[in-house]
Amino acid sequence: MSANFPHLIDLDNYPVESWNNIVNLAIDIKRHQHIYVGACSGKIMATLFFEPSTRTQMSFQSAMLRLGGGIIGFDNPATSSVAKGESIKDTTKIASSYSDIVVMRHFIEGSVKAAALTADCPVVNAGDGGHLHPTQTLTDLLTLKAEKGTLSGLTVGFCGDLKNGRTVHSLLKALSRYDNNKFVFISTDELKVPDYIKDIVTSSGKSFTEVNSLEDAIPSLDVLYMTRIQRERFGSAEEYEKQKNVFCLDSKKMELARKDMIVLHPLPRVDEIALSVDDDPRALYFKQANYGMYVRMSLILSVINRDIRSQPLLTGKELPDVKCRNPKCITALEPSLPHSFRNCNGVLECEFCDERITDRQCTLY
Ligand code: ASP
Repeated sequence: MSANFPHLIDLDNYPVESWNNIVNLAIDIKRHQHIYVGACSGKIMATLFFEPSTRTQMSFQSAMLRLGGGIIGFDNPATSSVAKGESIKDTTKIASSYSDIVVMRHFIEGSVKAAALTADCPVVNAGDGGHLHPTQTLTDLLTLKAEKGTLSGLTVGFCGDLKNGRTVHSLLKALSRYDNNKFVFISTDELKVPDYIKDIVTSSGKSFTEVNSLEDAIPSLDVLYMTRIQRERFGSAEEYEKQKNVFCLDSKKMELARKDMIVLHPLPRVDEIALSVDDDPRALYFKQANYGMYVRMSLILSVINRDIRSQPLLTGKELPDVKCRNPKCITALEPSLPHSFRNCNGVLECEFCDERITDRQCTLY
């Protein structure tokens, strides 16, 4: 029943069937929790959170405790040796030698993959900068499966900070792999979905439209995925000020939506959903957060005890004169890391942050 997930850095490293296995196992755990009590007895999970978190951290910890395992770690790097200047590499090496699974969140894109390169046990990406958030995506897939009964044939609207929202990027990549999904991107011009994600959507044969009015988009949607403007990813306070409060879902807009549309949000909410919407039966974001605990129980069971050598993390190649140009990529900060690229339909793609170099023909393979 379980999937073979040695590390979980990006869901795309695994076939869709294995995502479905995680979701199905989570449904079983939710129904028959008593069977899984003690399934991780004697195991230890380390949670290394270099960025704030409420749901991801607590749901992972609660998941491990419910499975009978123990937890160690930090959520304030200032109280660990990180404050003394220790590298991600050394911190991970040590934490992984004390535990059976490492769950890491970091503010730099590609950093969790870099950490996994040196780890002695499976590593799970709990969010790497504005890049990816695969365990939120598993949460979202479970919510959709449980609440809409399907992961296919859905029209999904994404609203808010589609540029910096890692949950949006991960979920779009995932939903593009299921049949007949359509997407509506609702954002300002400044916060549109990055081109490389749009390429993934179109090359999977799915269509999307880009609009800037939530009112206009809402009547056509099966699912509305609201997101917060990611203040911490902006270069300046002024840029953030210009973007905040542009979109707000309120009861009036909900009147325009279908009776069976559901509203999701990875949370935290700032002011993009009015409190009055919480009482609408279609507002499922708190339920979604609860599904996150079951999906993480399922994931822990699927990751723990896996042989991490069975999954090479870097499969691309280095070119002597080519470096990743994303200043937020871990390769820009850790000089010891290789600038390793994949061939993505003839385009060079950084193996850590997925940034593409479009002005160089890929002659790697
Ligand atoms: N909790 C989600 C994340 O960590 C969404 C957010 O922070 O807005 O990406």
